[in-house]
Amino acid sequence: MQNFVEFWLLFFWVVLTGTCLGSFVNAAALRYVAGQNWISEPSTCFACHVRLSFWQNLPLYGWLRHAGYSACCKQPIPPRYLLIEIFVGLLAALVFLQLGWQQSLAFMPFFVINCVIFLTDFDDFIIPDWASLGGLGLGLLLAFVNAPGLPPIEFALLGAGGGFALLYGVNFLYRLWRRHDGLGFGDVKLIAMLGAWLGPVALLPILFLAAFAGALVGLALIAYPYVSKHNISKPMPQDKAHLPFGCFLVTAAFLWVLCPPLRHIVLMLVP
Ligand SMILES: [Zn+2]
Repeated sequence: MQNFVEFWLLFFWVVLTGTCLGSFVNAAALRYVAGQNWISEPSTCFACHVRLSFWQNLPLYGWLRHAGYSACCKQPIPPRYLLIEIFVGLLAALVFLQLGWQQSLAFMPFFVINCVIFLTDFDDFIIPDWASLGGLGLGLLLAFVNAPGLPPIEFALLGAGGGFALLYGVNFLYRLWRRHDGLGFGDVKLIAMLGAWLGPVALLPILFLAAFAGALVGLALIAYPYVSKHNISKPMPQDKAHLPFGCFLVTAAFLWVLCPPLRHIVLMLVP
């Protein structure tokens, strides 16, 4: 019984921490895309830019207290704020259940950084260097100190180098064929980071899953033009990819970490 209570207390704490991280992830992504300093700038209202109080800044509570309206200027808060907080809260719970608390702790920065990358790539087709290269450095450092769940340092280095070479090579071939880049350099740095955290064995399955999902979504967008409103409002330069490939890479990497059957199938195929 005591274990049961301890488990649920810990679980509740994990979900709560997750919603706080979700609030941070959303703010970091929005500020980065808006060109603001995402660390030093105080939290302000999204509409009237009045500085938020501590209570208004709390995840979920700030939104629920005034039923989705800002306390200062009574504007409807975009659902994105609430949804991302809930999503990251649930993600933290899933990570905790799948990895246990030691690995969850080691992998927390991995999930936070990748959630920011997902949002900036989705919003603006940008992957910040501080996230991809910073995440790469952190992954190598944690691998070096044998943090739980990370590959040994030699595999982390192999994963980073292999990931870089793999996407750089894919893009090089694409450029020979189509005379323009198929991928942003941000994607190349992102997969190097994923390789450092997850090791070289993860690279091909992640790339394959991401490309497959990207192709499916691409086909769906062609079939249902109204779904692609997000893209139409922001015309794409010709030399850029039409889908944020980083979002697919991040999703595939999350699946790799959180779905053990997928890893087992792949590891069975690797000699
Ligand atoms: Zn306001």
